[in-house]
This record gives sequence, C-alpha cells and structure tokens, in this order.
Amino acid sequence: MKANTEITQKVTQLREQLQKASYAYYVLDNPFMEDSIYDQLYRQLQDLETEFPDLITSDSPTQRVGDRPASKFISIKHNIPLYSLENAFNLEELNKWDDRWKRLQTNHNNQNYVCELKIDGCSLALTYEKGILTRGVTRGDGIMGEEITQNVKTIRSIPLKLNLENPPDLIEVRGEAFLPLKTFDELNIERQEKGEYLFANPRNATAGTLRQLDSKKVADRRLDFFAYTLHLSGDSDIKINTQWDSLEFLHQMGFRVNPHRQVCQDITEVDQYFQDWDNKRKSLPYMTDGVVVKLNLISLQEELGFTQKFPRWAIALKYPAEEVSTIVTEITVNIGRTGAVTPMAIMQPVEVAGTTVQRATLHNEDRVKELDIRVGDTVVIRKAGEIIPEVLRVLKELRPPNTIPYQMPKNCPECGSKLVRPKDEAVTRCLNSSCPAILRGSLIHWGSRDALDIRGLGEKNVILLIENNLVKSIADLYNLTSEKIEKLDRMGKKSADNLVTAINHSKQQSYARVLYGLGIRYVGKVNAEILTQNFPSIDVLSQAKITDLESVYGIGIEIAQSVFEWFKIPENLDLIPQLKNAGLSFKNQVSTVNISSNSQLLEGKTFVLTGTLPTLKRKEAEDIIKKLGGKISSSVSKKTDYLLLGEDAGSKLEKARGLGIKEMSEEDLLKILQSSENI
Ligand code: AMP
Ligand code: ZN
Repeated sequence: MKANTEITQKVTQLREQLQKASYAYYVLDNPFMEDSIYDQLYRQLQDLETEFPDLITSDSPTQRVGDRPASKFISIKHNIPLYSLENAFNLEELNKWDDRWKRLQTNHNNQNYVCELKIDGCSLALTYEKGILTRGVTRGDGIMGEEITQNVKTIRSIPLKLNLENPPDLIEVRGEAFLPLKTFDELNIERQEKGEYLFANPRNATAGTLRQLDSKKVADRRLDFFAYTLHLSGDSDIKINTQWDSLEFLHQMGFRVNPHRQVCQDITEVDQYFQDWDNKRKSLPYMTDGVVVKLNLISLQEELGFTQKFPRWAIALKYPAEEVSTIVTEITVNIGRTGAVTPMAIMQPVEVAGTTVQRATLHNEDRVKELDIRVGDTVVIRKAGEIIPEVLRVLKELRPPNTIPYQMPKNCPECGSKLVRPKDEAVTRCLNSSCPAILRGSLIHWGSRDALDIRGLGEKNVILLIENNLVKSIADLYNLTSEKIEKLDRMGKKSADNLVTAINHSKQQSYARVLYGLGIRYVGKVNAEILTQNFPSIDVLSQAKITDLESVYGIGIEIAQSVFEWFKIPENLDLIPQLKNAGLSFKNQVSTVNISSNSQLLEGKTFVLTGTLPTLKRKEAEDIIKKLGGKISSSVSKKTDYLLLGEDAGSKLEKARGLGIKEMSEEDLLKILQSSENI
C-alpha cells in the first residue's frame, strides 16, 4: 500500500517527537516525556512503518537495532586516520610537551588549552552525510578500522540525524563509546556467575560489546558516547576556530559532550584541573583514566600537525593505575545464590581506589591453575569496577619456601554435596537447590538495597536465621515474629522488633523491586524495571513466551530465556503465591507513572486544547484528560505540559511551539486512554 501525505506527515512528526524525547533523555539528561508515552509513540511509528515500509528511513528511531545479526565485520580505511595520544604521567612530562610545541611554534603567545576528561572506552569515527549517520567505524590500528554502523546506531546518545539546518555533505565526528560503571559492574557480576573471566576494565568491556555481531545484544548493554572531535568537509561554510567551539557545536548538533571540560590559560591551570579531578572522578558514573589536554586554537593545531603516531598539539595526562600488592593468607570458595563456586583469595587488608580490600576473586578453577596462586604468595590486585577486586598476577619471585598448590574442593563446603563442573563450562556448581549457601545468597539479595531494602537482613542475621531453622525460603521471612527472633544469639528485643518491622515494611515495595529481588539470572535492576513496564503483573510475565519477552526493547535472548525458564521451576512457582499471600506486590501500582499500570497516566499534567479534533468534541477530550488525572487550562504558558492539537489550530499553536511545548494528537490521547483501561 502507498502512504498518503497525511501518513507521511504523521511519520515525520512521530520521528521528530521521538528524536526530541531521546535527545532530552540521553543527551541532556532532562527527560520531558514519560517512558510509557515514548513507548506509545514509538509503537505507533513502528506500526506505520510496518504497514508502509517505503517510509522507513535509515535515521528513523526504529532503525537503531538491526533485524538480524551481522555475519562478520568488514575492515575499512578511515576517512582521516585516528591517532593515538602521547602520554604524560606527571607535571614534568607535561612541561616537556609544552616546551616542545612552543619550540616548534614561535607565535605561541596567549595560547590556551582545553582540558577534557579521558574516558576509558573505545574511540569511534562517525560519518554523517548530509546530516545523516551513514557509517560508524572502530579505531582499529588508526588507519583501518571495523565498520560497525549497526552497532553504533544502538547507542542512544549518538544522533542518527544531526540537528542542523543545512548540513554539509560530510561531517566526521569522533568520540568515546563507553559503558557506564554500573553496567560494567553488572556485566562482570554476570560473568562471575558464569565463571567467565571478568573484563579488566570498561574499555575492554566496551570493545567486547562493540564487536558483538548481534546488534540486539549491543543494545542490551546500553553503551553511551561522548563526542570530542569534529571534522567538517572542505565545502562546509561552518567556521569553527577552536576546540572549545567544536565541543559546543557538537553539543548543539545533538551529541553528548562531557560537561567537565575546561579552558585553561596555562600549564599551572592544567595541572590544577588534573589534580582536582583525581578525586572528583571517583564519583563519576563512568571510568576515567586521565585528562586529555589539547591546544585550543585549531589553526595552531593544523600548523603543528602530527608525528608518526601522535598529534603534537595534544597529550594525555594519565592517573596512575589502581593496582596494589598484598599477601594471600587463605584461599577459599564462595558459593553464590545460583550455586556457582567462586574461588577467592583472602588477603592482608589493603587500600585500593579508596576502599579497604581483603578478598579478591579468582574467577574459576582454570584461572586458579593459570595463576598458580598459593597461600603466602604476594599478589597484585586491582579493582576492576566499583565492586569486585580481582587478583591480576602472582609475584612468584617473592614466594616463600614450602608453599603448596591450591586444590579446589571436591564437595560443597556448605552442604557437602559433590560439586559439578558441566562439560564446556568454566564454572563449577553446587546443584543442591536446598544448599544453605544458595538460600543465604537469595535472602541477602532479597533484602539488599536495590531489591526489597530490608534493613537488618544482612549476611550475619541471614546466617543466624538459617542456622536456627527459622527460614527455609524467602516466604518464611514473612512468618517471622519478634518473639521467635529475639531469643537468638546476639539478637535482643530491639533488633528483633526492628527486623520484623523492616520485613513488614518491605511489603510496600514496588513490583519491579520484588521482581529484581527474586534473583532471576540476568534480571538486574534495569531489566526488572523494563519487564514490569511491559508485563504489568507477574501473572502476565509468567505466561510470556520467549518471543514475547525478546520483542521488548532492551531485553535480549539471554534474559528472555532465563526469565522463561525461571517460571518452569516448581519451587519458584510455589514461592509466588506464598509471597502474594504475605502481601507483596506482583503488579504495577496505580501511583507510578506507567502506561501499563496506571489509570492516572496524565496525573499532574496541564493541557491546552486547540483546533478541531478529528472525532472528539472538546468537552469529551477534556473529560478524558481529567479522567486520566490531567488538568485543563485555557491559555498556553510555560506551565503547559501538552498541547492537544486538532485541525486549523490558531495562535495557541504558535505560542506553544515558541515555548517548546509538547504536542499530542487525539489519537495519542485515545491510545493512552485505551492502555489505562487495559489494566
Ligand atoms: P591511549 O589509548 O591511552 O593512547 O589514549 C588515546 C585514546 O584516548 C584515544 O584513542 C581515545 O579513545 C581516548 N580518549 C578518551 N577521551 C578522550 C578525549 N576527550 N579526547 C581524545 N581522546 C580521548
Ligand atoms: Zn552446597
């Protein structure tokens, strides 16, 4: 079927709305549209594109994830080579660099520098032809890189279309793709569970992610991107004179640009910036390993040019790596809540990256063999992300005499059952589902901050409750009474009361937290949130087929399979009604703004109506808005949230567009109404 003008316009309008919303969310960090409304609009666009495939364009927000995995990546030549950066580790080396370029350039008075944080990720070269993203290439060796356009498109902070009136023929943008630390840690925890090697740093994890052939998997990982270099084609009439202006311009075009950039007048200021950020960077949600210093004036950069390997006009000032050495006092194994056995080194406590560390993971049996780690050894450890320290290497030269190689235990130290290492897997497991270690891990996870947040349900108390046979499953927590607990060792009335209160309080936690708390493999906080948004109750979720699960944006095949299989296990199916009876929430509550759960979807939103609506009378539309919790106002102001727009709109439309107010059609409104009734 051919689309008429009206449909074409609608498609364009939807794309614009979605682009604006994505930009506000991913680049500005300042969302203006509820996720649920975004999903609605996205689906409308998807439906229209399915019906009229001719209307699909490569910059449509629906094209961020490819239909099918690539079979391999093709190596291609960069338009402009990507150079590496020279490193400096201290002020002296920085000064040397500064003297060097000044010697080459006599006219160097009043030159300033731009300092940017050096993000620990992978650089990408993005090509925009007439403002549309046409190519994304990894750095590779700087001359040739791999073409990974489909993967690059999954990164939501990379615009598919530049925000430019008259885009030049060619723009090339460089920047750093990276994994936020949280995602990085989650990924490593997953890998630990599987007994796989941890990614040593976010850079490796990013590189691994970008090289996934299946762009769906890449989308799952939620990479982010900061742009830092701009190349305009010769014919462009845009004039940019400084690196600083490039960064501003990149931001205007729709890129995320790191906000912590700074112009420094001299090397002393540069050094100050470097020192300041040594501490501050520890609270950033992404990993930085230094500061990149660039000469600000682009004409000066061009005059100085490049050496064989580096630009002469930039240098990377690096922070020292966070690695320290200590001595191993014991080697044990930890049994996780999935039964995975992780060998651990217990060490003399040391400070790493601001915290005291005493235990470090050895990943799995193979890694233990490879390291040949022994009690008494001096080891180098590193905190890979924020959570898991790992042993990097053993300093064999320092090994004392008479040490013995470590043997993994044959039986579970917790329940005595034989440990099993399935063929082709790296991980060893305890398969006894009533192993106290598995119960312990599940309970600790259930009570953890991001799950049910039960204060007092830490490791110590969990062990106490299990040892005294008071809990055999999560559901038993809800049968505990103060009287039963206060008799336990080191408990007392007050702590017992507090624990019971905290447990009772947890009944008010959201369905998303409950779902996360159940500890289904791969269902982290974010995935739990996505699942609850798309499957408004556990009854719906438990019936979902793998294909239903997988069709949700952000849910990949591994997660889908894991969820599906979880609902096949009888113990799990028994647990849910028990928890329901205890009063825990297994569906979305009315008070959260959520399309699939909330009849008050427009709560607190102010609407102005203008023009003639296709089917509804004004009064009817007003009633619907009110029914959904919204308010009506007669004139447009900054306080207006939405303009409900019909045919022949008048001055209100102009004013609303001037103020950047979101527009909604009758169709949008009816869809929202419909979904509120589907609860
Ligand atoms: P290195 O790989 O340690 O030689 O450092 C060079 C790399 O730093 C580049 O290839 C980029 O991937 C990365 N980098 C991170 N942040 C920036 C930035 N703001 N400017 C330039 N390069 C950066
Ligand atoms: Zn066991």
